[in-house]
Amino acid sequence: MSQEQMKIPQATAKRLPLYYRFLKNLHSSGKQRVSSKELSEAVKVDSATIRRDFSYFGALGKKGYGYNVEYLLSFFRKTLDQDETTKVVLIGVGNLGTAFLHYNFLKNNNTKIEMAFDADPKKADTSIGDVPVYAMDELEDRVKGSDIEVAILTVPAGPAQKITDRLVDLNVKGILNFTPARLTVPEHMRIHHIDLAVELQSLIYFLKHYSTDDVET
Ligand code: ATP
Repeated sequence: MSQEQMKIPQATAKRLPLYYRFLKNLHSSGKQRVSSKELSEAVKVDSATIRRDFSYFGALGKKGYGYNVEYLLSFFRKTLDQDETTKVVLIGVGNLGTAFLHYNFLKNNNTKIEMAFDADPKKADTSIGDVPVYAMDELEDRVKGSDIEVAILTVPAGPAQKITDRLVDLNVKGILNFTPARLTVPEHMRIHHIDLAVELQSLIYFLKHYSTDDVET
């Protein structure tokens, strides 16, 4: 990662894929510039935040002109490593894991699930959505030397930590954790935790207790 990228605050970095996706659509529809107001309405982030975020990218919008779509896109491509496909491994080919194997991540991002693993012998040596599924005892041999740096965990909570320890030993750098387990990892490793049941509950709670005018971005 370059010095320039390291200066971007985490909250801004998290919004990058959102901006990227929208700008790509704009670009393919032939639009050359976009105002922060237009962006704000499309990605549902207030325009002051957008202007601050974009100032980190060295993109200064001009009054009455807006932002140059081409410039922003090439910046995002570089920052998000979109010029290179990121290889991902998925562990746990249950209902959720299977859905991810069928989902075409390449459509919007340059990420690709290269291979998947499952403890169930019936699932080993099959392929789902063109992704090969292997037995868990092949994890080390297959992932070592494969350039895979990211893992998606869709196993039950119970075995999640043990599997994570194996991924740490394989030098995986990031885990997208869909299990409810809170994982312990070394400091250099990054975990993003997505508990769909909690997210759904939280949405329902907000719908019940807050009006949409109170929602912060
Ligand atoms: P299914 O309908 O296939 O049981 P599910 O999503 O309801 O899927 P889970 O119990 O959440 O089932 O398990 C998800 C997947 O993780 C299953 O395919 C299961 O075989 C697999 N799995 C369970 N334990 C492990 C483990 N220790 N290592 C790897 N995969 C595992």
